[in-house]
Amino acid sequence: MKTENIRIIVAGPRGKMGKEAVWLVHRTEQFELVAAVDSKNNGLLLQDLNGMPEEDTPVFDNMETCLQQIEADVLIDLTAPEAGKHHLELALDYGVRPVVGTTGFTQQDVERLREKSEEKELGAIIAPNFAIGAILMMKFSQMAAKYFSDVEIMELHHDRKLDAPSGTAVKTAQLISDIRETKEQGHPDEKEELTGARGASVDGMRIHSIRLPGLVAHQEVLFGGSGQTLKIRHDSMNRESFMPGVKIAAETVLTLKTLVYGLENILE
Ligand code: NAP
Repeated sequence: MKTENIRIIVAGPRGKMGKEAVWLVHRTEQFELVAAVDSKNNGLLLQDLNGMPEEDTPVFDNMETCLQQIEADVLIDLTAPEAGKHHLELALDYGVRPVVGTTGFTQQDVERLREKSEEKELGAIIAPNFAIGAILMMKFSQMAAKYFSDVEIMELHHDRKLDAPSGTAVKTAQLISDIRETKEQGHPDEKEELTGARGASVDGMRIHSIRLPGLVAHQEVLFGGSGQTLKIRHDSMNRESFMPGVKIAAETVLTLKTLVYGLENILE
């Protein structure tokens, strides 16, 4: 028996991530691309846009209009922080399950949106990092934090990224925080001669954000102990690295009745 296709809207199809997501949906047998939401190109078909597959999928420049006109199961959002939050809420209002890779959600945003998804009994996934290797990096970092309480996180991204620090860096710090005793690192009398030299502080840990052309998405978690250091590093070399995670999320979100934050919470 053939199972029903999962009908998917992709928001941000001209973007670096959105483009990969369009191709992922296009080549996945049980996925169907029913619409795209782009800040430009209203009224065109997806195939009219540069580098897109031959699909006569309609393009909308407004999420609400799209949701009013198109029957869909899942929205994959890869846009920008404010747009992502708005799109997620609208999707829940229209009974569509959001899979959001857009970063820049605060803990308060997540809590508010979780309440809404539970009210509506609709699953939602926000994953600041869809790369499975990055999830393992976070898990290994949490394991290491049990033995090394001093740690600095360096996240490195391309210079078009809008938010800093990255969602992955914040998430890593939270996972480490859950394991270690609260600790203010560094010398108690430490003084920054230049503001920002020591990075951002999360529960006494420091996060350093590096932005350079040529980078994609990378993170290094550096632990220090007596006479030794331990470095755990993950590199996404291109945006294809995120797509297996997007696929798993688009399938799994249909089985959920709450919002899940973080791909690690849906991987077995
Ligand atoms: P990008 O290349 O700048 O693409 C963003 C796209 O979203 C652009 O085409 C932009 O259109 C479009 N957009 C912005 N606001 C919109 C709106 N209101 N409606 C429809 N489209 C809108 O960025 P990217 O590298 O693809 O990243 C997109 C997001 O994913 C960012 O938040 C990034 O941090 C995140 N990200 C997540 C992961 C993950 O694994 N979860 C990995 C990489 C990146 P215009 O050009 O017209 O503004």
